[in-house]
Order: sequence, then structure tokens, then C-alpha cells
Amino acid sequence: MIVVMRPTATSEEVDGVRRTVEEHGLEAFLSVGEERTVIGVVGSDLESVAHLGTLDGVEQVIRVSSPYKLASSQHQAERTRVRINGVEIGLGQELVVMAGPCAVESREQLMQTARTVKREGARVLRGGAFKPRTSPYAFQGLGLPALKLLHEAHDAYGLPVISEVVDPNDVPAFEEHVDILQVGARNMANFVLLKAVGQSRRPVLLKRGLSATIEEWLLAAEYVLSAGNPNVILCERGIRTFETATRNTLDLSAVPVLRGRTHLPIVVDPSHGTGHRALVAPMALAGAAVGADGLIIEVHPDPANARSDGDQSLAFEEFGALMDELRRLQFVRATGAEDAPPLTDAPAAAGSIDEVRDRIDEMDGRLVAMIQERAGLALEVQKRRDPDAHGHDVRRERALLERAANGTEGPMTPVELTMVFDAVLRASRSVQRRHARSVTGSGT
Ligand code: PEP
Ligand code: MN
Repeated sequence: MIVVMRPTATSEEVDGVRRTVEEHGLEAFLSVGEERTVIGVVGSDLESVAHLGTLDGVEQVIRVSSPYKLASSQHQAERTRVRINGVEIGLGQELVVMAGPCAVESREQLMQTARTVKREGARVLRGGAFKPRTSPYAFQGLGLPALKLLHEAHDAYGLPVISEVVDPNDVPAFEEHVDILQVGARNMANFVLLKAVGQSRRPVLLKRGLSATIEEWLLAAEYVLSAGNPNVILCERGIRTFETATRNTLDLSAVPVLRGRTHLPIVVDPSHGTGHRALVAPMALAGAAVGADGLIIEVHPDPANARSDGDQSLAFEEFGALMDELRRLQFVRATGAEDAPPLTDAPAAAGSIDEVRDRIDEMDGRLVAMIQERAGLALEVQKRRDPDAHGHDVRRERALLERAANGTEGPMTPVELTMVFDAVLRASRSVQRRHARSVTGSGT
């Protein structure tokens, strides 16, 4: 801490600051300049002299170390890894996807969702039992019966479960039924609740408050840590800004900022962060790209009829597509199928799944050769034109995509077929650009 004295401060006033500092068992280092005196204050309990700014002759007090200790990476250099029933979240671990409904609505809804998200590769099941809703008339959650359903889903699918606790008195019931205690955005500064979950043996996922600064959020984490619970996961879920196009403004820059300040794992919630289904996947990918340790995503079997947050909940297919994309970009490797019993060594019967897979492998081999051949032709086109010419003919590509979309029969929809050709065209353009660069020394 640095105390900057006013240029008009008297030597008695400087001495008054020095004495106060020393009376609190801290050390004061005076630096007497031509214009003013500056006093460096060091020691372990700087909070005890937080009032120095009110002493006579003091112009300002500057804190140089963070007000949070246990959460700080200065205090603990190695990153924390939180282990939950075989799932690890934190440094060097694969991105952990937590998914499930905003609120548990029924056994059927929860079990269906658990089965699906597990199959798609989620590692943790979410589900609200006590919902802190903005309106007292909105669905408040099923309460304790929902916790019991989460317990059942855990036992049935082997996924650890996370749910939000809103009342310190409920912590024992949560400890009995869930694996991770969530503290919601509206309760980030509920210090009684923070201390209660701090005394729990369960890991805590602490959401950022609706208008909390990163420092306030880390101080909230400090409450949990200082109460004895070292397993805190931070969750960026968007903050209040003047923007109305999204429900909240998802502050993804918080992820690298936190990386520099804390050793705690960081999860991104693109569902509450955006409030719109169409924005969830892009922001989930962005969260993964910016270095989050995990994502928490709302998924519902029938979002249009969800009892809470339907607008931002992904349908099963949408969640599957997002997981595919996360796998394609190698943020996620696991699929729920890995837990399935191993295939036997028995030879494949005619028409069996193995035989069909063999045919797919053989076809993939041919497809690779054909795609390479196609890229070779694209390269020939590039060689025959001015290297500075734009790398592709948009009109022909559009016609091709239209033909692909409308002119064939098979299980793929026009949208899916377009996805395939889109990828082929992008790769061909990449080959052309590389060639153009090698000729001109720059891109097209
Ligand atoms: C939730 O996760 O369902 C929830 C209410 O989130 P938040 O506290 O971020 O609003
Ligand atoms: Mn929700």
C-alpha cells in the first residue's frame, strides 16, 4: 500500500501516518521528495489501516496488492483442479461441458435430458431445483423433490450433478443429493450463503453477480475459500450493460483477466450470457477458444414449452451439433459412448454394425481420394489465372450448393448437404490461396 501525502502536509501529519501504521504492527517506509512525501506500507494485515486515507495530510491511498489472498495467483502459483467423482476441471484438463435443463420439471424431462447430454459427451448434469426468479409469480422450481430426481439421474447415468442453492439452511440437503453447489448470480454477494457453502465439503460453482466487477467476484470467492472450502469454480454468465439485444453481455475478456489473477478454474455460461438460443453455440465456442475450463449450457427436450429460460435452452439436436463442433475443434474428445461396454472380438455377422462400419471406412477412403483430386483441379484453376485474382468464383459455388441442396435424394437434408460442400469449398480455397502466396509472396 502506498500513502501519498499532500504537498502541503506538515511533518506532524507525516509522522501521524507513520505512527498509525506502526501501531498496527505494520512497517512504514518514507520517501521524502522535493514536492511531497510518499509512504510505503507493508505487512500482512493491510485491512487494519484501510482508514489511512481519512488522516490529515493524506491525499490518496493506493493499493498495490490484491485485496483477496486465497483466490489470488500470487498466493498460489499452481492452478487449482477441482475433482468431482472422476471429472476434473482445471489446468490441462479437457473442457468440461455441464448441461441440462434450467429447471427440473419432471422425472421424464430430467432423465431424457440426462441420457441425451451424456450420450453427446457432457460430463456434468445441471438442473435447477430452487429457482431464484425475478418475478415471484414465475415458476420457482420443484424444490426438494427435484434434488431427489437429480440424485436419481446421477445414479442412473453416472453423471455428477450441479444445482443452485439459495438458502444456507438447505446446504445439508444439497450435500446429500448433489455433487456441486451452484451459487447464482443473484446471490454472489449473499455473504451468509457464501460462508455456508464455504463450510461444505462439496465444490462450489460461483456465478458472477449481475453487475459485479471481477474484483468483487474474486472477493466473493475469497469468502468461500476463507471459510475452508478450496474447491471453487468461477462462472462468467454475463453482466448487466446498456445493451438490450442480448439478455446480458457475456464478458469473455473476464476469462483471460481471471487467468492472470487467480488459480481457480473458470466456466463460461453462454445460455444466461446471451439469453437467445441462436447465440449459445457461437459464444460457447468463443468461450472455449478464449481458454475456459468448462461450459455450462441449458438443454431442454422441448424448449418452446420449458417452464423457465426456454428462449435460451438448446434442443437436443442443437446441443448435439454444438458438441460435434467442440469435438471438431478438439476442445472436447470424450463422447458418452466411451462408457459403453467394449465390442466383443466375435467376427462381424453379415449386415452387422461392424460390417456396415467397414463399408463406411472403405467409402471414406474413396471420398478422401476424390476430395484430394478435386483440390488438385482447384489448384490447376489457380495456376491458370493471375495469382492476384480472387481465389474463387462465387456464382459457380452458389449454383453448386443449390444443386447439392435440391438435386439429390438421401437421408441428408439440404442444410446438412450444404454444410459438407461448404467445407469442401473452404478447403479448396485454402489450397488456392497457399499456391497464390507461394507465387506472389502474399495472399489473394
Ligand atoms: C441458472 O443457472 O439457472 C441461473 C439462474 O443462473 P444465473 O444465476 O447465472 O442467473
Ligand atoms: Mn436458467
